[in-house]
Amino acid sequence: MKLHNLMEDEVIRIVNKLLKNEKDICTCEKCKLDIAAIALNNLLPQYVVTKKGELYKRANNMGIQFEADITKEVTKAIYIVRKRPKHEIKL
Ligand SMILES: [Zn+2]
Repeated sequence: MKLHNLMEDEVIRIVNKLLKNEKDICTCEKCKLDIAAIALNNLLPQYVVTKKGELYKRANNMGIQFEADITKEVTKAIYIVRKRPKHEIKL
């Protein structure tokens, strides 16, 4: 058994979707995850318990408003990362 944050899947899905339409932004793994992290920090987590290897079913309450809220936060995050990409900083 493990905890799984459904919001994480949704945010990653929407990051990938929105980045397809963006031309002047870096889409390296680091920048993508930075965008996802910023958006996730502004959204409520949606935790479920999953059995190992089990695929989660998308909840039915994830409607249009839910998608719109995520899109709004991801759009803000893309704006932030575009202005200040952090992929060049060595950690
Ligand atoms: Zn990058």
